Amino acid sequence: MSELRAYVEVDLRAIAANIRKIASESDAQILAVVKADAYGHGLIEVACTAIESGASWLGTALLEEAFALRAAGVSAPVLAWLTPPGDDFDSALRERIDLSISSLAILEEILAAGERTGITPRVHIEVDTGMTRGGFLDEWDPFLIRLREVKDSLHIVGFWTHFARADEPDSDFTDQQLILFNVLLNALQSEGIFPEIIHTANSAGALAHPSSHKQMLRLGIAMYGLSPDITTMGSSEVLGLTPAMSIKAKLVNVKSVPALSRVGYGGAGVTDRDTKLGIVCMGYSDGLPRRADSTAGVSYLGDLARLVGRISMDQCVVDLGPDTQALAGEYVTVIGADGFSADDWASAAGTINYEITTRIASRLPRIYLR
Ligand SMILES: *Cc1c(COP(=O)(O)O)cnc(C)c1O
Repeated sequence: MSELRAYVEVDLRAIAANIRKIASESDAQILAVVKADAYGHGLIEVACTAIESGASWLGTALLEEAFALRAAGVSAPVLAWLTPPGDDFDSALRERIDLSISSLAILEEILAAGERTGITPRVHIEVDTGMTRGGFLDEWDPFLIRLREVKDSLHIVGFWTHFARADEPDSDFTDQQLILFNVLLNALQSEGIFPEIIHTANSAGALAHPSSHKQMLRLGIAMYGLSPDITTMGSSEVLGLTPAMSIKAKLVNVKSVPALSRVGYGGAGVTDRDTKLGIVCMGYSDGLPRRADSTAGVSYLGDLARLVGRISMDQCVVDLGPDTQALAGEYVTVIGADGFSADDWASAAGTINYEITTRIASRLPRIYLR
């Protein structure tokens, strides 16, 4: 590993443990959400780990992600829910990918693909119960009418919605979404349609709203060991989850500088003591958020070294302290249990942990711990 200037370490054992923990607290099956390269952790390895650890489904946003799973030989059920008109639905059916229906236009394209391929599409109907994003809202009534004509040409596997505010345990918004969801489900059932898998819960639903579990949890961030929202739901530790991602980067150089040295572009950083600075070989092109302030940084053998000045494209500068033993060529921990967490980076940059892990660039190799 010593030739790598920076790398992401993905602890697949942590992912397995997080899935097992959540599975042990629910009767629902688990769909492991692996969109966006498994939140930056690596699509194929995470998918295989999830299935080995008790997840029975995989979920992607895009068809191309689902195709990548099939191309790697992953045979578990896969649901892809974000398919704009014009997507390759023929290939989706041939690859046995379950599709979400969220508009009349998509319904018609999926039906046409079913006719062309001779394969009955497996579909999950998505309803918009308060997120005001994906799913049927204004087209619901015409959809039910059209469904009467075409329901025999579809295998309706699932019925689902997505929560907007499940990470706010004190809000009754999720309960309101569930009430509307049940009304819509009843309307579907009145048409004689009884989907096998009802699913509503994301990680926050899984952790904070037992009544949302239904037949399946769509588990994303919690599987990676991170909290849906540390302010409302507590940290990974509070939730009993183990973060799977850590990042190491090499020190390009270590240099002694006097107090009041101006550091980096714009001279935006200033040393507040005579100290040793570490030049870290990772920057915003690698996915570090340029906006991060000096509450984030790296750690060297457990000692925190905070950012000084602006993050550059390929490097950043940290204050290792006057007494550091760190040497050029050694690794520091950018994200990890012995230093700053993805949550620390998120709060230093005014964003959320999801954005930190998903934006770690693909140019950083992923090293897997099994
Ligand atoms: C991303 C996503 C999830 C997972 O959300 P988490 O908050 O990461 O658990 C679940 N369902 C849908 C539709 C999603 O897009």
